[in-house]
Amino acid sequence: MRLVLLGAPGSGKGTQATRLKDHLQVPHISTGDLLRAEVAAGSKLGLEAKEIMARGDLVSDAILLGMIEDRLSRGDTGNGFILDGYPRNLAQASALDALLGRIGQPIDCAVQLDVDTELLVERIAGRAKAEGRADDNPESVRKRLSIYNEQTAPVVDFYRQHGMLSVVNGVGTLDDVFTRILEAIAPVREVG
Ligand code: AMP
Repeated sequence: MRLVLLGAPGSGKGTQATRLKDHLQVPHISTGDLLRAEVAAGSKLGLEAKEIMARGDLVSDAILLGMIEDRLSRGDTGNGFILDGYPRNLAQASALDALLGRIGQPIDCAVQLDVDTELLVERIAGRAKAEGRADDNPESVRKRLSIYNEQTAPVVDFYRQHGMLSVVNGVGTLDDVFTRILEAIAPVREVG
C-alpha cells in the first residue's frame, strides 16, 4: 500500500502515520523527521535547512526530491510506504508522480486529514509546550499554515483530480480518526 497522508500542521498526520505504519507493516517516511535528523546531525544539508525550517518556510524542492529518491532506494519499500509531509506543493507532487512512475510504484491513495484552523492552532500550541519544536513558535506557525493553504491545498486537488483522494475528518480521538482512515483506505487495500 503506497499512501500519501495530507493535512495541515497539527492535523495529526505524524501520529496517525506512526499507527498506520505498524498496522500496514510499511515504512513511515516523514520528510520533516528526515530533515530534523539532518539538522541534529549537523550535516551540510541540515545546516542549510535549519534556518528555513525555524522560519516555517519550505526547504527547496530539489533537496526534498533528492531525499525522497534516496529514501525510496533503501529497499524496504517493497510492500509500500506512508509519505507524511511530502509532497507539499504542486511541483513536488509532479516530481513524485514522475519518480514513482519511473520505478513502477505509483501512489494507491491519498488521505487528507481535515481539521479546522482554530483547532490546528490550539493543537500546535499544546505540542509546542510538550515537545518544544523550534518551529512551533507563533510566527512560524502562522507561516506554515499560510503555506499549507497556498501551496499544499492545491496538492489535495491534484490527488482529487487523479481520483485518488479520500478526505477524513481529523477531529475526534486518535482511535476514531485511525478507524476512519482504515475505512477510507479499505477499498484500495482490497484491490492491492
Ligand atoms: P513537518 O514535520 O512535516 O511539519 O515539517 C517541518 C518542516 O520541515 C517544514 O515546515 C519545512 O520547513 C520542512 N519540510 C518538511 N517537508 C517538506 C517538504 N516536502 N518540502 C519542503 N520543506 C519541507
